[in-house]
Amino acid sequence: MAILSDCHLHSSHSGDSDTPMEQMILTGISKGLHTMCFTEHNDFDFPITDLDPAGKFECNIDSYLYDLISFREKYKDKIRILFGLELGMQPQLMRRHAVLIKNYDFDFVIASSHICNGKDPYYPAFYEGRSEEEAYSEYFQSIIDNIKKFKNFDVYGHLDYVVRYGPNKDENYTYAKYQDLLDVILKLLIEEGKGIEINTGGIKKGLKDLHPCTDIVKRYKELGGEIITIGSDAHDTENIAYGFDRAEALLKECGFKYYTIFENRLPEFKKLV
Ligand SMILES: [Zn+2]
Ligand SMILES: [Zn+2]
Repeated sequence: MAILSDCHLHSSHSGDSDTPMEQMILTGISKGLHTMCFTEHNDFDFPITDLDPAGKFECNIDSYLYDLISFREKYKDKIRILFGLELGMQPQLMRRHAVLIKNYDFDFVIASSHICNGKDPYYPAFYEGRSEEEAYSEYFQSIIDNIKKFKNFDVYGHLDYVVRYGPNKDENYTYAKYQDLLDVILKLLIEEGKGIEINTGGIKKGLKDLHPCTDIVKRYKELGGEIITIGSDAHDTENIAYGFDRAEALLKECGFKYYTIFENRLPEFKKLV
């Protein structure tokens, strides 16, 4: 395994994980990782449901940072631990996000779309009464709206996350079908010097490809994109670094010679061997 850095990880500091950070770190060390970047969820204005009570995805960042600093020190001879955040993007949140990101010395900020125009694509209601194309297009358009409003992030996370939850998932989904919107997203990201991530979390959910799909990664490269981080999106120990062999194969297939890690918000390029 050439990729020894997992840059998308959740612990019990995220509302949907109950795995203690120390357990995550010990497992990362035992899997031979050199770097783990925690990217706990922070989603303001997350729609409230029975499963998602108010504030479920709002991180207590002081408590998260306290744990992270303690474990970073405790395991400093064994692994590099980085302080990241997965920021749930919505256009109305730009001011709150600006303040939040300014208040902490994050190493890495992933911008992710979990909510689209106030709706959660996780639930079937998002797809009801319209075609899959309409639903997926609305999701991609909302990413464009988000990037135009807020730019203090390093990579955009799991760009085609929506295909995890559509009625037919990624069965009929191709880059070509959404090329107009996806190209706008990729060009905006490249113009702003932002990266994308390869997120291996979708393969466990039965998808045929990684996030984003191979053709998006190819297109990002073709348009001049250079920054790709790799993350498992693990919420438990089992999934840490899951599918990294596929991520590596995908990067190489698309002509990348490096993958990226962020520390102090600065990219560090690691050669793929
Ligand atoms: Zn996410
Ligand atoms: Zn995540």
